[in-house]
Amino acid sequence: MNPFEYTALPGRVVFGHGTLPRVADEMALLGTTRAFILCDSVHATTAGERLHELLGTRAVGQSTGAAMHTPVEVTEKVLIQVRAAAPDCLVALGGGSTTGLSKALALRTGLPQIVVPTTYAGSEATPIIGQTEQGRKTTQRSLQVLPRTIIYDVDLTLGMPVLLSIVSGMNAMAHAVEALYARDRNPVTSMLAEQGIAALARALPLIAADSWDAAARADALFGAWACGNCLGTVGMALHHKLCHTLGGSFDLPHAETHTVILPHAAAFNESAAPDAMAIVARALGASNAATGLFDLAATLGAPTSLKAIGLPESQLDAAAEAAAASPYWNPRPVDRDALRALLDDAFHGRRPTALNVTPHG
Ligand code: NAD
Repeated sequence: MNPFEYTALPGRVVFGHGTLPRVADEMALLGTTRAFILCDSVHATTAGERLHELLGTRAVGQSTGAAMHTPVEVTEKVLIQVRAAAPDCLVALGGGSTTGLSKALALRTGLPQIVVPTTYAGSEATPIIGQTEQGRKTTQRSLQVLPRTIIYDVDLTLGMPVLLSIVSGMNAMAHAVEALYARDRNPVTSMLAEQGIAALARALPLIAADSWDAAARADALFGAWACGNCLGTVGMALHHKLCHTLGGSFDLPHAETHTVILPHAAAFNESAAPDAMAIVARALGASNAATGLFDLAATLGAPTSLKAIGLPESQLDAAAEAAAASPYWNPRPVDRDALRALLDDAFHGRRPTALNVTPHG
């Protein structure tokens, strides 16, 4: 065992089927009585309404205005509503964008958060907030944005559109893949990373076949938590840098961008992190991490090229320059030309070339 350091994150997790009503008890556990609700627009008339009924007069306000990449101007508008409603906690119900708005409000108000996630983005398990201002996405870590309680209700994910499920699941896997070669990797996080990738790799094909498969949905949501936990406890590298750049500066959809970039980031890092990539391949049940990730996305009908998700080819130079300008630590050194080549492969959706093939597939 190599020496390591590990800091566990505080936070409570309630996981199960039909757990939405637990919000009331969890509010009481936090000693709170006035919730400002942040709800995804797709859930506003379903789970959002149920939440209002459950909380009654304990629901003191609501916003459905969250937007992808947490634009500061949206946060500032909702902050005015929050201050007027004088809540003592925030309850977020929705995907990563809704959680992002909740975190941005927590950062500005110090309010505790209860988050009920409906996608696999994993933001609920991290003390990280990314915010976008004037086309630039910046991230920071603060325990103030870490939700106090996560309530996973598998039932809320039943029937989630297949494509959203696949790209969101690939987004989750990206946290775990990068955790395995993180500079501050540790055995606890690595264990969760392997389990998270394996759970999602098992579940996603079953979900693609039947989006109401309750057992697969439970597996996937557990995987999302495990992978989110990885993002929360160790540093990310090239893959996340590229996705932040592409998302923040070129307004590409978050989960789809992760899905397209991940196999190429894995291929890029394979020679510098062969042990991590062998674990990824094993968890995928594939012979190689990069091709295994690419094939999983492609087989399940997810986008595999930046072209398909709306990046104009003319922006590839600018994207490479922006990502190279302030690189994250990465197991393999990164320069502008290498990034440009990686982005070219991702733009055209080329299947990565496998360097190492393990006998697991
Ligand atoms: P999202 O929250 O924007 O959701 C995508 C779309 O799916 C939205 O239209 C939403 O209304 C809809 N949706 C959500 N749940 C659904 C369901 N169960 N069924 C049907 N539709 C549903 O996207 P996301 O991928 O969940 O989150 C992306 C955002 O999260 C980005 O802004 C990203 O930066 C952030 N994020 C942050 C962290 C972090 O640690 N800070 C981690 C991961 C993601």
